[in-house]
Amino acid sequence: MTDSVEANVNVHSRPSELKITDMRVVNLRGAPFRSTIIRLDTNQGICGYGEVRDGGSETYALMLKSRLIGENPCNIDKIFRKIKQFGHHARQAGGVCGIEMALMDLAGKAYGVPAYQLAGGKFRDRILCYCDTPSERKGSDMGKRLKERIENGFGFLKMDVGIGLLRDTEDTLIAPPEMLRTNEIMHPFTGIQITDKGIDLLCQYVAEVREEIGYQVPLAVDHFGHIGVESCIRLGKALDQFSLAWYEDMIPWQFADQWQRLAESVDTPVCTGEDIYLKEGFMPLFERRAIAVAHPDLASSGGILETKKVGDLAQDHGIAMALHMAMSPIAALASVHCAAATENFMVLENHSVDQLDQWSSLVEGLPVPLIEDGHIAVPEGPGLGFTDLNEEVIKAFVDADNPGIFESTERWDNEGAHDRLWS
Ligand SMILES: [Mg+2]
Repeated sequence: MTDSVEANVNVHSRPSELKITDMRVVNLRGAPFRSTIIRLDTNQGICGYGEVRDGGSETYALMLKSRLIGENPCNIDKIFRKIKQFGHHARQAGGVCGIEMALMDLAGKAYGVPAYQLAGGKFRDRILCYCDTPSERKGSDMGKRLKERIENGFGFLKMDVGIGLLRDTEDTLIAPPEMLRTNEIMHPFTGIQITDKGIDLLCQYVAEVREEIGYQVPLAVDHFGHIGVESCIRLGKALDQFSLAWYEDMIPWQFADQWQRLAESVDTPVCTGEDIYLKEGFMPLFERRAIAVAHPDLASSGGILETKKVGDLAQDHGIAMALHMAMSPIAALASVHCAAATENFMVLENHSVDQLDQWSSLVEGLPVPLIEDGHIAVPEGPGLGFTDLNEEVIKAFVDADNPGIFESTERWDNEGAHDRLWS
């Protein structure tokens, strides 16, 4: 007999008796960076997929395996609360977030509903994508590359404009000795300043881009370089004339007071968030109204449900949410379900536009290319919406330095500690 909860749903399995039995991984390289696909197996033959963030480590997920075995994956929030103490900002969140994606995939498959339904339903049927585009030295060349993106259907663009374009030109940057050779020092502490000549050259660069692409399509800008907030404000004011969609990560997200000063000094939306873990990490920025666009990467911010909460909190403060994303279709689809379920969502990033067919083919059961006319259609299948991984394409992307494909992870079965955070 089915219980009352299951009586009216499409039961692909017995959700109340579902248990996690194993976690296995495969490491990818070039899709588009380095990331780890995780697979959670169960006692009922269904499995769920998630992804550890680009630049992370399989260890971040595997160290949590023993904490998942025997749990019912449909208890997503309960498991998330158990493991979120093992995540932190940026890549260190990769294990917790990848597991959350896999739990959402599994719970969706168990109940026969798409992941967005588990997050409260959807606000839209297609998710607008923006494409990152590698830099060109000349603004006119950059403009031509971006124009190709528009011709391929993209209606939202991003490019880099920063001190990297000025390094070879005298009198554009002032910097303490050696400081231009490292990017390991946070912006407020480098002492690097941009000169009027440097600002003029960057304005000329953006003017050449706008000359090519016009003003119909939003264009966001990233990677300004490690300059202090005063240089950011001078550069930002000079670039305001080009009505850019946002200035991204001009300063590190940790400095909420500096973000507030920046936001109040320029007339272009300012944006950060791709390295922030959990909604609490965003709150100092939200409370100060220090950004116009929150930009979580749900493989760092806490997965689908937590990132919807980030979006809802942003909305309460009059802030939009865009999503950072530089991984395989698995994380992209997790982002799509979150974007579908979050009202103030604006646009989702994609880094694989120049290899879109092969990238899209990593998963089966969805259109290739996954992005059509600049959008990803929200899948209606259970869980994340794809039916399986494509083994051949997985093999093509497998990391040659760590080439095992879903091999035994038995050595992680007994990892453990006294996890309680209080006495
Ligand atoms: Mg960025």
